[in-house]
Amino acid sequence: MSDYNPWYDPAEEIKEQTEHENARIKAHMKLMHINDDNKYGRCGGCGADLEPVWCEEKEWINGTYTGRVRSNVNYLICPVCLKKECVDDSFAGPWRNK
Ligand SMILES: [Zn+2]
Repeated sequence: MSDYNPWYDPAEEIKEQTEHENARIKAHMKLMHINDDNKYGRCGGCGADLEPVWCEEKEWINGTYTGRVRSNVNYLICPVCLKKECVDDSFAGPWRNK
């Protein structure tokens, strides 16, 4: 399955998906207000789309600031219930000289 969607629980009856079937599922998700291309995931509390809070991160090596910075996601926040979700470095940009 090249278009596997991790947000969708693959039920047995949609094993043999056709393009028509995919379109039907997408329409259903839209109807249910499910955003299937939200790359930041959803709030574990209320299910709303999480939003990233960006920060500028300084590079420290052995306690010394190298002068380089990168943009990174500090944490994700739910715009509805304000619950914070911690993230790893997977959203970090490349280090660059300031
Ligand atoms: Zn929430």
